Amino acid sequence: MSFQSLNIIEPILEAVKQEGYTIPTPIQEQSIPIILQGTDLLGCAQTGTGKTAAFAIPILQLLSADKTYVKKRKIRSLVVTPTRELAIQIGESFKAYGRHVGLNCTVIFGGVNQNKQTSSLQGGVDIVVATPGRLLDLMNQGFISLREVEIFVLDEADRMLDMGFIHDVKKLIQVLPKKRQSLFFSATMPPEIVKLANTILFKPSKVSVSPESLTVDIIKQYVYFTDKGSKNALLVDILKDKNIKTALVFTRTKHGADKVARIISKQNIKAEAIHGNKSQNARQKALTNFKEQITRVLVATDIAARGIDIEELEYVINYEIPNIAETYVHRIGRTGRAGAKGTAISFCDASEKGFLKDIEKLISKKIPVIENHSFPLMDHDPVKAPKQQHVKRNTSHSRPNTAGNNKAKKWYGKSKTSR
Ligand code: AMP
Repeated sequence: MSFQSLNIIEPILEAVKQEGYTIPTPIQEQSIPIILQGTDLLGCAQTGTGKTAAFAIPILQLLSADKTYVKKRKIRSLVVTPTRELAIQIGESFKAYGRHVGLNCTVIFGGVNQNKQTSSLQGGVDIVVATPGRLLDLMNQGFISLREVEIFVLDEADRMLDMGFIHDVKKLIQVLPKKRQSLFFSATMPPEIVKLANTILFKPSKVSVSPESLTVDIIKQYVYFTDKGSKNALLVDILKDKNIKTALVFTRTKHGADKVARIISKQNIKAEAIHGNKSQNARQKALTNFKEQITRVLVATDIAARGIDIEELEYVINYEIPNIAETYVHRIGRTGRAGAKGTAISFCDASEKGFLKDIEKLISKKIPVIENHSFPLMDHDPVKAPKQQHVKRNTSHSRPNTAGNNKAKKWYGKSKTSR
């Protein structure tokens, strides 16, 4: 299947070619025709599947069909996404795919001065990509009107729920025109998300792709059993390998991220931390430095790293094993993107063995253990993992409502379209 056969207009085909895309990803192949028809869409997919292009390309095509926009621009498409990083990335994608169609796109997010955003809004825009809080704020101040929105996208809906944005999203829905096309994307479909989707969508076509099975198959995964107190030394030891050009290291806490970044920096390894306590500018700068390989190691918490798209990221290191198995899959999905190779290394101390077991159950495979390394696990006595933190995998949370069975494994290995 080629992009041409999806009936995409020439200026967008040209831009896609410039991006270096040769064939559409499964979510693009399935979603683009549905969206071009004007049908609502319920997409079960996460970042890393090519989801952004799956909605940005047809939106650009639909909006560019009405040439009157050149005279007076109004917000005709709104994309709402949970984090600033995602908003920026989606905005960049709209600009890249739309570079030959002449539509304007603005990104709206909190944590920075609003002046730049409001002045670009006042200049007239066709597409707004926003995080919910700042969007509502600017609406309340009268800078944004959503009355003319034709296509609405709710991205990463399950994250919205996790991050407590659902109330804001509901407020937004109320002011959107009733007559509109809506696209709804979520990596998982817990009951609350299904309920929300039902209030937003009208007779949606359903598309679901699972990158996880692919991800898990193409990414090399290893685990090092080690003591909690040896993890810093082990990390420094692993990073001595100059073949590791860049590595994204995950810690469970913000404090932990800062500490690890500090410790490895002292060993002359260029590292920065990224987490929710850092200002937007600091986060963006750390991300840019990492993307440009000015820093070699980015230490991140899960929320901060959610959705960051770094081309050619070969290594993900789990300094701590996540207590939710799905988080592991999301983390390692930062590498091995769009078919590139990737390696995921996890450090497991005695208290984390249970989490590792959960992960292996979820991905249906044993992660190879690196034996004979310099910092072996000595303290086999499991320091009791805090019970309340051990979150058992909830299978109903890890499959789309379309799957119709209770086995997460099936969802993780399937790609499905239903109309
Ligand atoms: P996304 O899921 O939208 O975050 O996309 C993940 C990555 O895949 C991004 O780096 C995109 O640039 C890339 N990508 C999207 N579509 C394609 C495609 N058809 N071929 C190759 N790479 C793609």
